[in-house]
Formats: sequence, structure tokens, C-alpha cells
Amino acid sequence: MEERMKEMQEQEKRVQTRLGKIRHKLAILSGKGGVGKSTVTANLAVALAQRGYRVGVLDADIHGPSIPKLLGVREGKLTTSRTGNQEIVPVEGPLGIKIVSLDFLLPSDETPVIWRGPMKMAAIRQFLADVAWGDLDFLLVDLPPGTGDEPLSIMQLIKDIDGVLMITAPSQVSQLVVKRAIGFTRELNVPLVGIVENMSGFICPKCGAEFNILGNGGGQKISEQLGIPFLGKIPIDQRICEDSDDGMPFIVKHAETPAAKAFMQVVEKVEKYLEQQRGRS
Ligand code: ADP
Repeated sequence: MEERMKEMQEQEKRVQTRLGKIRHKLAILSGKGGVGKSTVTANLAVALAQRGYRVGVLDADIHGPSIPKLLGVREGKLTTSRTGNQEIVPVEGPLGIKIVSLDFLLPSDETPVIWRGPMKMAAIRQFLADVAWGDLDFLLVDLPPGTGDEPLSIMQLIKDIDGVLMITAPSQVSQLVVKRAIGFTRELNVPLVGIVENMSGFICPKCGAEFNILGNGGGQKISEQLGIPFLGKIPIDQRICEDSDDGMPFIVKHAETPAAKAFMQVVEKVEKYLEQQRGRS
């Protein structure tokens, strides 16, 4: 038991040393699954890499690790470095983005292997402690959805997160869960970059009319109520889903669409937030 405690303390030290070298760490969270958290993470990673930043993504969504698929590297394999210190080498994706995900460790879709929650969490802890990210400007962490033990322990382990991006759908139900998730980050004392309202309205490509399929303005309303910056609304676009299935980042393939432009606005606001943070410190 004592041995195990010591091991964990040493692992935590390695996490701090390793992550301490990364310039900015952003976590992406949502109150519940299916609101586009991973889609936003993947597109944000690409947008930052397009701007010349060195970007890494830790896919810590243990329930549905989808970043490798979204970035077209599902066939990738994690390896250990040859230096003898057992560092894990990330898979390199588009624009040099470094990717680490449980998905690389899971067998192919056809082979059912049961990975229990604690085993997955142990793998995430090991990723945080032992991945050789190299020189990174940004590490984006795609957290498990919700306010349970898993996102909590990951955020506690990372410690100096620059900020959390909260992703929500515009509906009423989502507003409730997102409020709970915001309370959660406040309890943890982690700063919020702001709220992104995803799947916000649908613009008909044929007639240009706008339909609020999942409601409208929920994220914006919370941001006003709770005094949290609003980072933007990303509309529903069928091509986001299609591009995700092809492993092609939407903002690269469809840069001229309103949804891609909305993504870019989110990125600009993230950059501004970090500038302000720097100004403060
Ligand atoms: P989460 O990570 O929150 O579980 P995902 O990013 O996996 O959610 O997204 C869930 C599904 O919704 C995916 O099939 C994705 O392609 C789709 N999706 C996400 N955002 C949009 C959007 N703005 N328009 C259309 N489809 C979207």
C-alpha cells in the first residue's frame, strides 16, 4: 500500500514537471456527452496549428475517445521512446499535431474488450506523466463529459490549467447541465475561458432560412446570467459530421462556411483571453 502511494506521488511529480514545460494548457468540457466537445477540440487544434502554434491533444474522454478519428489518425500507434526512460511518443496528425488517446490502445472495433473505468483512468494518469510532448505551445485536453470523478481527477492532476472552454448545445436541458459544470470548475478554482454554443441553429443551404432545431441562445443566456465570456455560436452543418467521419478537419475543408468562421472567432477569443492572462501575470 505504502509502495503504491509512493509510486503515485512520484507519478504526480512527473506530471507537474512534464506539463510545466507546456506554454498553455486548455481543457474542453461539457455538461453532457454529444454536444460537440470533441469536434470543437479537434477543430480548435487544427486552427491553432494553422496559426503556427505547436499543438498537442490529449484525448482524455475515456467513454468515447474520438480525437484520432476526427483527425484522421485512427491507424496510429503509440510507441515508447528509445532513450530507455519509457517515455510515450505521441502519434503525429495533420499539421504536426501530437495526439495521445486511449483509442490507440483499444483493440479494433470488432474485438470487444472490457476496459474498466479505473484502468482507463490509470492510463490517462500515465499519459499525463510520461508522454514526450516535446516543445508545445498548446496542450488541449478533451475531458470526459459531465461533473463526475473522472473529469475532476484529471483537472486536479493537471493543476495549472490556463482555462476551460465549456461546450453546450442551445437547449434548456443543456443549460441546466452546463450550469452544474460551471459550478464544478469554480469549485476547482479553474478559470473559464468562456462558453461555446454548438449546434446553434441551422441555415438551409438551399433557401438561406434559419431554423433553431435545438433551440437558440441557451449558452449566451448562461454567459450573461453568470458573467462568463461568450465565445460564439457554431451552427449545425451537415458537413461537420461528414468531415468528421472522413477524418478531415471541417475548418480546413470548408473554411468559407459560417460554421468554420464561427470556429475561427472562438480561436481568436481564446488567443485574446491568453493575452489578457499574460497581461495580468
Ligand atoms: P461530444 O464530444 O460532446 O460527445 P462529438 O464532438 O462527438 O460530441 O459530436 C457528436 C456528433 O455531433 C458527431 O457526430 C459530430 O460530427 C456532430 N456534430 C458536432 N457539432 C456539430 C455541428 N455544429 N453541426 C453538425 N454536426 C455536429
